[in-house]
Amino acid sequence: MQEKGLIVAISGPSGVGKGTVAAAVEAKLDGIRDVAHSISVTTRAPRGTEQDGVEYYFRSREEFEDLIAAGEIIEYDEYLGNYYGTPAKPLARMAEEGKIVLLDITIEGSLALKEYFGDDAVTIFITPPSMEELRRRLEGRNTEAGDVIARRLKEAETEIMRAEEFEYILQNNDVDETSDEILKIINKESR
Ligand code: 5GP
Repeated sequence: MQEKGLIVAISGPSGVGKGTVAAAVEAKLDGIRDVAHSISVTTRAPRGTEQDGVEYYFRSREEFEDLIAAGEIIEYDEYLGNYYGTPAKPLARMAEEGKIVLLDITIEGSLALKEYFGDDAVTIFITPPSMEELRRRLEGRNTEAGDVIARRLKEAETEIMRAEEFEYILQNNDVDETSDEILKIINKESR
């Protein structure tokens, strides 16, 4: 059967391991499928060793609003006081070229991309093994102050209640297992 490209929109609470899982999936797809990476724009400050144009494009609020007005952002959301958005043109081009694109984005972002791309997109929600484990992971990351962690945990509780709005829900007990599950979903949905 013919393989097509797919937008894989992954959401889940902060600290659940979305980024790590997405990177593992990309590594496993290397050489097998044509994978492309979408770099989001954000107004939050770089964390740790993050660099502009690598993890994100770091922009001011004003610059971000200009991008929205210019139609350069296909979807955006506000999370804990900062804007996060997906650049429109690169993503549309990757979709046209039949690439597999994994995006780690908010719930609203994933649902917006599903609405926009229809069958060319799949939405996956990742849950933690428990809230205790989520707290441990956020604290272990060690790049944020305690109040930021507390806000992320509170936000996580509300987010988890919306898991049912997604096509697939996966509990991330183990990065290797979760990334294998996502590979299966990609194989099924990109045919
Ligand atoms: P962080 O500050 O931890 O890098 O990201 C915070 C949240 O923003 C995460 O839930 C992440 O998935 C989300 N996010 C990152 N980029 C985008 C984007 O382009 N659009 C949307 N809607 N959310 C994003």
